[in-house]
Amino acid sequence: MSTKKIFIINMIMLALAAIVFTVINLVPNDADKLKQIQENYAEEAQKGIDNSWAYFLINEEFPLPDGYTPELAHVQGVYMMDERCAEYAKTMIEAAAADGIDLCVVSAYRSIEKQQENLESYTQRLINEGHAPEEAEKLALMEIAEPGKSEHNAGLALDILTYDWWETHDDVTADFENTEEFLWLQENAHKYGFIMRYPKEWENTTGYTYEPWHYRFVGLYYAKEIRNSGLPFEYYYKMNF
Ligand SMILES: [Zn+2]
Repeated sequence: MSTKKIFIINMIMLALAAIVFTVINLVPNDADKLKQIQENYAEEAQKGIDNSWAYFLINEEFPLPDGYTPELAHVQGVYMMDERCAEYAKTMIEAAAADGIDLCVVSAYRSIEKQQENLESYTQRLINEGHAPEEAEKLALMEIAEPGKSEHNAGLALDILTYDWWETHDDVTADFENTEEFLWLQENAHKYGFIMRYPKEWENTTGYTYEPWHYRFVGLYYAKEIRNSGLPFEYYYKMNF
């Protein structure tokens, strides 16, 4: 092979290496992602709080790792959350009370076993109401996640209603949105690191029917950003990483 040919081949190899290197660097790796997330939480970090652990998706596509078991702390009554965000929830409930708003937690951390139980009993209820078993399973999954795919299993979610509401209803329903408690949460939940996770307009994206009662902890920075973006967590997350 002539020197000229070798030179050309070398140049081509170098060019290819440069392209590969550039592409690899355009796709953020996990370390870059974590660094960016930590930088975004800078304001919280200045107060000595690391909330970067809370910024991850849990859904049909991204189940929790097997055996994920958070350390728990009480939020209200028997209800518990991941101990790293329980204080945020308690502070939010206290702030609401100071504004004359009585928030009532009706679900928080759920074990994998409890999740399975809930899914089965809800499916059975739909069958009892006249749905065919296959249809009942499908409908149940629109409202209750499979074990390991629920934010409740991570101790990161709260279902919040009001005391009055709970006394007059058998179940959670979307008309909770007509309460002053819901309006308070719309105005204030992000100040405590929570987002309303399953908005009305995004049922096809989140895979869940509208749940004005379900709030998910993501930390202060992202709660504000996601709320202001008007996007569901799935879209926001994918657009930013
Ligand atoms: Zn929920």
